[in-house]
Amino acid sequence: MAVKLVIFLLLVSIAVFLLPQLASISTTPELKQQRLKPEIIPAPIPPSPLEFSDLRWNHMPLTVYIDARAAGKESFPLDFKLALDNWKEATNGVISFELKGTNDADMTVEWVKKLKSESLDAAGNTDIKFLNQTRFKILTKADIQLLNEAESKELSDLDMANLAMHEIGHALGLGHNDAEDSIMNPILKIPSKEIKSLTQQEMQPLLDTYKTPPKPDLYITPNATVTKILDKRLFKENYYINAVITIENIGLVNSTNATLLIKADDMVVREDNMPEIPIGAIFTRTYIYQSVAGNFSSVELILDPKNLIDEIDETNNILVLKV
Ligand SMILES: [Zn+2]
Repeated sequence: MAVKLVIFLLLVSIAVFLLPQLASISTTPELKQQRLKPEIIPAPIPPSPLEFSDLRWNHMPLTVYIDARAAGKESFPLDFKLALDNWKEATNGVISFELKGTNDADMTVEWVKKLKSESLDAAGNTDIKFLNQTRFKILTKADIQLLNEAESKELSDLDMANLAMHEIGHALGLGHNDAEDSIMNPILKIPSKEIKSLTQQEMQPLLDTYKTPPKPDLYITPNATVTKILDKRLFKENYYINAVITIENIGLVNSTNATLLIKADDMVVREDNMPEIPIGAIFTRTYIYQSVAGNFSSVELILDPKNLIDEIDETNNILVLKV
């Protein structure tokens, strides 16, 4: 009995000793202070949108001509180069550049005292040209102008690097992003404290666009017309096909060496080589009185029947028409 009492008293004293300590763990003044002053975590930058969907270049690296003649500061062209490197690094090389010594480059940059009146941004401007075809808007040229000073204030190298990264963003097809820390925010706060970072999340729409490899994509437009002609002679029936077939290249690069196979049911009518079909081009071929070995109920038009051309979409090369 005495032993039990001793154990009981021991347990009670342990409990009495521990309870205030346990209580104090959850209410230490330091922890209270931490709760009152939470660490400010900047909100993640939302994705920067493309100016138009499927707006992109169809090759890499992009050639860049830096016209340093009016740069003002000797270091400004180097700041622009740094901005190019930052874009390459942030996109893991999906976007890459190659400097060129002549202005027939994909992208040009020059420094000016005054921007065009219709310029998009206060301290820089980017004019883009693109080929607007059925599926993609393919960038063909980007010309960047940068101010060598803003509102009579000299720009620092950090300012210039941030300004250059913003305009390169436009040259890659990006629009504006209202998030304060976004490189695509239309307002450049000067003096810059640091070079803005390009986050994966912000670049995602751009990276997604470049997942489609630069290949051609031929398809037979659904407005092809095919008619069956029956020529009845005394002892013989002759079958023919008249057809108007339209092929469009909705891919990212020109298509060469395509062939078109025409079958009537299982009978081969003919197979022809197609000319080079540039991106965005529509090619129409007309066939008159193509002889068919016998009667038929459908005509099958097959582009690239041996699948010799690597295309973005291999499933849109066949059109079957009932006749
Ligand atoms: Zn802008």
